[in-house]
Amino acid sequence: MPKQDPKERIKNFEEVALGYSEEQAIREAKRCLQCSKPLCIEGCPVDINIPEFIRLIVEKKFVEAARKIKEDDALPRITGRVCPQETQCEAKCVLGKKFEPIAIGRLERFVSDYEANYSKESWQVKKINNKKVAVVGSGPAGLTVAADCARIGYKVKIFEALHKPGGVLVYGIPEFRLPKEIVNLEIEKLKEMGVEIECNVIVGKTITIEELFEEGYGAVFLGLGAGLPRFLGIEGENLLGIYSANEFLTRINLMKAYRFPEYDTPIIVGEKVAVVGGGNVAMDASRCAVRLGAKEVHIIYRRSKEELPARKEEVENAEEEGVIFDFLVNPVRFIGDENGWVKGIEMIKNELGEKDSSGRRKPIPIPGSEFVYEVDTVVVAIGQTANPLLLNVTPDIKRNKWGYIEAHPETGKTSKIGVFAGGDIVTGEATVIAAMGAGRKAAKAIDEYLKTGKW
Ligand SMILES: Cc1cc2nc3c(=O)[nH]c(=O)nc-3n(C[C@H](O)[C@H](O)[C@H](O)COP(=O)(O)OP(=O)(O)OC[C@H]3O[C@@H](n4cnc5c(N)ncnc54)[C@H](O)[C@@H]3O)c2cc1C
Ligand code: SF4
Repeated sequence: MPKQDPKERIKNFEEVALGYSEEQAIREAKRCLQCSKPLCIEGCPVDINIPEFIRLIVEKKFVEAARKIKEDDALPRITGRVCPQETQCEAKCVLGKKFEPIAIGRLERFVSDYEANYSKESWQVKKINNKKVAVVGSGPAGLTVAADCARIGYKVKIFEALHKPGGVLVYGIPEFRLPKEIVNLEIEKLKEMGVEIECNVIVGKTITIEELFEEGYGAVFLGLGAGLPRFLGIEGENLLGIYSANEFLTRINLMKAYRFPEYDTPIIVGEKVAVVGGGNVAMDASRCAVRLGAKEVHIIYRRSKEELPARKEEVENAEEEGVIFDFLVNPVRFIGDENGWVKGIEMIKNELGEKDSSGRRKPIPIPGSEFVYEVDTVVVAIGQTANPLLLNVTPDIKRNKWGYIEAHPETGKTSKIGVFAGGDIVTGEATVIAAMGAGRKAAKAIDEYLKTGKW
């Protein structure tokens, strides 16, 4: 797929991948073998009828193709851009054994963009009833529950802690991978369907779940995400110039730090930035740092390139943009200057041992291999965990040993009657499509519960 030239794109936050033309999409779609037992569907967490939508592309029925996808995936413009297709649907494509698998995600993106540009669709709402559903959190899980419940006819209100709805789609994933206009359009469609969104409400603090029930909500869905950053827990981590990826990306994406002074929210990015971690979040942070003018941006990863958990495409994009990868090293402590600003990282070299429970070879520190690395900014991107704020004041919602909500995988039912949950707050950090799939299942169960009163 055509992309912005790396030399140009490091100077802007515009989308990197430019999308297929009609001809490119049809050419790619024609490669599909239309297997009688399509394995690609098995690879998609929401079972999109992939061969069928690809067949419609070959027939140039782009709008119909987009609508076919939407039977199972409410936000294909988003999943077509950010789904880890190479480990999901495309990993199962039989063509991938000998050649390149069909570029399912790119085709999904093409038809859903086409539909958005050329055919305005309004979502059909069935008969409105007077029952109310409260949705806490406006990430992909919450947005999906809200859309599905509103379509059935429930009065839905979303409560969002931040000042803008969208969850990670707006505060985490940068504009150059997922333009915010796309997320905003989906949110506008929800509003057109009558979904109310109230921002700046922290459920558990501004209002409790009990109070939501007292206000007449028949069911509450918790799509809280996993927004609490993890830290390394080493000396010096509180020095100035050390950010969690969460803070770094939120300041840039949600608060538009890159458009200072138009937006009054600057962020300090030094000359030499080290991003600790190897996932999508680390790639996003490093590529943001490049765009904000850092002279040298390093990814510091404790294993080797083979074990990087980030999407291959995003690793390649980061490399093309000049991000330097330092493998098999791990920070031991941060070193500050006289003003309390980080000036270096003491690191230790690793070697790889046996595979651990994650199936990846374990990093083992090499004694005596410590060295100091000069930096002026550090972003810690080693993962996120459940934000306990709401759950601490709602002890009757059971949590597992990692702090995530225990919810039924098929219905999202929690241990508290009337309360459902789904997305990262149940599974831990996962994917957009998995959160949407959980939202869809929960909406069905909420409907069942509100119709029958049976728990
Ligand atoms: C930087 C980054 C990059 C990523 N890249 C990808 C990618 O390329 N592909 C992919 O598939 N996945 C990616 N992910 C993961 C993906 O974004 C998440 O799995 C997904 O967003 C989870 O959706 P969710 O609805 O469960 O939660 P979230 O998107 O986290 O949304 C939760 C929302 O709930 C709100 N909230 C929390 N507590 C409360 C409360 N008490 N009251 C009110 N509101 C509350 C939060 O403010 C937030 O807006 C990425 C994640 C990050 C952080
Ligand atoms: S939603 Fe994701 S996994 Fe499913 S077909 Fe689309 S790109 Fe593939």
